Amino acid sequence: TPSYPSNCLAFLNSPPTVQPSQTAHVRLNIIIVGAGLGGLATAIALASTGHTVTIYEQAAELGEVGAGIQIPSNSTRLLSRLGLDPYLEKYVTEPETISFRRWESGDIIGLTKLIPNFRETFGAPYYVIHRANFHSALHERALDLGVSVRLAARVVKYDSQGGSITLADGTSASADLIVAADGVKSIARREVDGSDRPPFERTGFAAYRATVDVHKMKADPEISWLLDRPSLNIWIGNQRHVMTYTIGAGKSFNMVLSHPDNTDPSTWDQSTALSDMKREFQGWDPRLEKIITMIETTIKWPLVSGTPLPRWTTGRLVILGDAAHAMLPYMSQGAAMAVEDGLALSRTLSKLTHLSNLPHALQIFEKVRIPRATKMQEASLLNGKLWHFPDGPLQQARDKAMRPETVGETFAHSPNQWSDPATQMWAYGYDAEGEVERVWKEE
Ligand code: FAD
Repeated sequence: TPSYPSNCLAFLNSPPTVQPSQTAHVRLNIIIVGAGLGGLATAIALASTGHTVTIYEQAAELGEVGAGIQIPSNSTRLLSRLGLDPYLEKYVTEPETISFRRWESGDIIGLTKLIPNFRETFGAPYYVIHRANFHSALHERALDLGVSVRLAARVVKYDSQGGSITLADGTSASADLIVAADGVKSIARREVDGSDRPPFERTGFAAYRATVDVHKMKADPEISWLLDRPSLNIWIGNQRHVMTYTIGAGKSFNMVLSHPDNTDPSTWDQSTALSDMKREFQGWDPRLEKIITMIETTIKWPLVSGTPLPRWTTGRLVILGDAAHAMLPYMSQGAAMAVEDGLALSRTLSKLTHLSNLPHALQIFEKVRIPRATKMQEASLLNGKLWHFPDGPLQQARDKAMRPETVGETFAHSPNQWSDPATQMWAYGYDAEGEVERVWKEE
């Protein structure tokens, strides 16, 4: 039996549906900068415990770039606590399995059952969804909780000690607390970090993001089977992989095609992305190549990993989401970490008995979240090695460790989050709020 971290055991012993976080004793006036998935999830977590929340977003219109996103069980469980179920249910797909496939043949190397295993083991489903739908569900919920969203409001300056922001139009606003969820190019991070370390590192990888018209796929029996049942399929090979799943109630086939590229993204020519992508995956499973041929447009996306920071807070300013911990998408956990951040922050602030305790509360938040997010960054980088072995002894050893004795029934343990129970429990069984309680008691 794998040994689970204590916070996971607490999670397993808790009832499957938990009531919303405690109501705050001290109700704060809070500014959130950024209305991405992280900013909105945090706004919901804070507003649902009684704080007054205003979001400042630089974009004139709300939206999300890219097509699909996975919402792993550690995130769906928290979203459910935040009352998101009725907002999400019309949009989400619950895939049955994740199949790891050999790059050149598509033969299954490893298979993880999501249904019913993830609900049974982690008390929450594993979903996939169109990003725009995820974003609009969060936005709707935030508005219903009374969150104000100010668009075309770009923050250009932070006064972290005084608790105020200055906008590009010269106006300013102040609050008890400023939460910056301003993404990987965060300017708030500079204010918090105060050092000249680079905000993130190139990982040596880039991804083509694309969708395929399912009608075309349905017309070809060699590939239409991929649409029969919702599932995730990932082809892995030398320095490359292709992640696929259906979204939008089976109407769209989502693809992320990861490949090595360490050049400066500002030099990339998006007009050749489609042909470059097709060349990158020449010689792969002919069925996969067929699907890639059906892609009509794609965007090449840099994949970066945030530099781990010693602190996420200064004065009345705290950073979270990609601003604090951008990571490779190889654990499908970037946005999920932002959701955990939001719940953890909300639970920490609920413990305040006086505004003067705010620095202490922010320290607890940081103490809980930095190790968790840093390990997730590392795990994501690790998958970038494990999945990408070239043909040879290392790859054979990995495949042997992953290979089910009977596909779909018995799984050998391997150092992979989708087949190793202890790693799965760490990733998907994590209790963000319980961890705040534990650390708060210790301090
Ligand atoms: P962002 O989404 O970047 O939002 C930041 C917001 O702040 C933006 O709206 C921006 O306009 C605004 N902003 C920035 N500066 C200012 C300013 N000065 N003033 C006002 N507003 C400002 N994660 C998962 O959980 N599951 C997955 O399956 C997954 N797949 C991924 C696949 C790929 C290819 C990639 C690249 C990432 C993936 N991720 C995944 C990661 C996930 O997309 C991110 O972690 C997440 O979207 C980050 O959200 P955020 O709100 O922190 O930042």
